Amino acid sequence: MRIGSLKERLEDEARVALTPESATHLQKLGYQCAVESGAGSAAGFSDGDYRAVGVEVVAGAGELFGISDIIVKVRPPKTDELLSMRPGKTMISFFYPAQNPHLLESARSSGANYIAMDMVPRISRAQKMDALSSMANIAGYRAVIEAGANFGRFFTGQVTAAGKIPPAKVLVIGAGVAGLAAIGTATSLGAITYAFDVRPEVAEQIESMGAQFVFLDFADQQDGAATGGYAAPSSPEFRQKQLQKFRELAPDIDIVITTALIPGRDAPRLWLADMVAAMKPGSVIVDLAAERGGNCDLTVADEKVVCDNGVVVIGYTDYPSRMATQSSTLYANNIRHMLTDVTPDKQGVLLHNMEDDVIRGATVVYEGQITFPPPPPKIK
Ligand code: NAD
Repeated sequence: MRIGSLKERLEDEARVALTPESATHLQKLGYQCAVESGAGSAAGFSDGDYRAVGVEVVAGAGELFGISDIIVKVRPPKTDELLSMRPGKTMISFFYPAQNPHLLESARSSGANYIAMDMVPRISRAQKMDALSSMANIAGYRAVIEAGANFGRFFTGQVTAAGKIPPAKVLVIGAGVAGLAAIGTATSLGAITYAFDVRPEVAEQIESMGAQFVFLDFADQQDGAATGGYAAPSSPEFRQKQLQKFRELAPDIDIVITTALIPGRDAPRLWLADMVAAMKPGSVIVDLAAERGGNCDLTVADEKVVCDNGVVVIGYTDYPSRMATQSSTLYANNIRHMLTDVTPDKQGVLLHNMEDDVIRGATVVYEGQITFPPPPPKIK
């Protein structure tokens, strides 16, 4: 079978789903590989780099669809891309089926199969395919770098001949994959880092990374924690305690990185306008929840806002694309690991086993049927 990698259609999307390195691994599984000309250029992979490892470079998307059995890409497919799919072919990309029911319907009518990288079950066996975590890790790191680029001071404290420099104080709200990456980056730059999450079990992880967990004086420490390691909406009483704590911290914190999300809901509002107003001029807020409505009252998605008091609020939603070589490498590896699992005989033939928890969970359309939502995985 041939795997074909499309050039992304979305403006400013610099990632690509196949790298020369991942193609080399996939060829060892018996696949042929092809790429649309220019697909990797924004991520630092030229047509020549692909040709050098035996990947065929084709002029346009039409030709790529024609010769490929498996189409890989990053962003959810556009309608014209779905129209180019045929029964027997498989597309692997992000899909976000809950947010894109119209795409599911078009995908179904194409008769092809669709694997959503965002639906890979978060079980231990599938960690190597967990593209959400790969991208969240990059977003958390990059959030701190963006904050640093907009902050007029050092992160680390210094004693110099010219005077003493205090360390920056960073608060990370939400300690999932992105939050922990942000904590690791901020502490390694020398900032005094605080972190809060509604799931008290992450306190140990936060502290092991050199940050301080912000404890609330609240009887039910489990409030806001759901099963499976995710968050649930907090009770009004818990939320009040949380906001009160943030209000106390706001005048003293230089950088806030917010990453708080609750599955299937808009992002909870946690850093309110009065907290922004209480921060010092030059302080920076990076809101990683901007795409889902934002954790901060003043966030504007995809923009940098400078408030009247000089506080900067950054709502970019494209952090992985801003580090396209790294994110393409990890994403392409996630796809390569998935294809390794579905190619048990290493003869370049995809075996779409709907009995396999991981493949079943990630498959959103199979042979003309919508298979989303999947049943819960049996294995942990
Ligand atoms: P996420 O992006 O859904 O949410 C980010 C964080 O925001 C979470 O830690 C959540 O608890 C927190 N949050 C929600 N509401 C909040 C509030 N009001 N105040 C403060 N924080 C709030 O999370 P994620 O990064 O996808 O991770 C979710 C879970 O999945 C974590 O337990 C993570 O360890 C786990 N996980 C497991 C695997 C695996 O393969 N086993 C892989 C990735 C993640």
